Amino acid sequence: MVTQSFFSLQDFYGGSIGARLAVAHGLYPDFARELALNEPFTRMLAQALILQKELARIMAALDHGTLCAVCGGRVGGGCCSSFMAGENDVPLLLLNLLAGVGVAALREDAECCFLGKTGCLLLFKPMFCLNYNCKEIRQGAAPAQMQRLEQAVGRLLQQQYALEQLLLDVLRQGGRLIG
Ligand code: SF4
Ligand code: SF4
Repeated sequence: MVTQSFFSLQDFYGGSIGARLAVAHGLYPDFARELALNEPFTRMLAQALILQKELARIMAALDHGTLCAVCGGRVGGGCCSSFMAGENDVPLLLLNLLAGVGVAALREDAECCFLGKTGCLLLFKPMFCLNYNCKEIRQGAAPAQMQRLEQAVGRLLQQQYALEQLLLDVLRQGGRLIG
């Protein structure tokens, strides 16, 4: 548990994914109590969860889950590598914690530490994860389906970005983020 009371942008966006996880967990308890009373934040988080569900429905219609499960079951076969785990910064990890996800490193191998037995643990994922569609997925989808998928990803990414900016503002105002 990190007991530091304020952090730098380097703490949020640099360092290892383990260090960022520790920062997010250190900030979470007090921050969650404070943000529960922040109406713009709770409203925007509720909207983000609706957009995330909409995207999940579109992905299910494209059989994303089955394709990725088969692929991820092969050693080195999936696209969720440990390198990709590093795309998760502290604001995004905090956002997942605030949405009720039990964010934790699930593994320590060549795959992303957030890749569990049933897929990605996170509700809110990095831009690179959301934007990536491999050949199998693109070939199996009709152009209209791909368009719906890309639009849903765009809407969710926009909302995630706005929420992350709000989190950073609140942290700066409270003196917990310097820079
Ligand atoms: S997106 Fe494509 S490459 Fe990545 S795990 Fe799914 S099926 Fe495999
Ligand atoms: S989709 Fe999830 S499990 Fe896959 S690389 Fe991104 S964060 Fe990791």
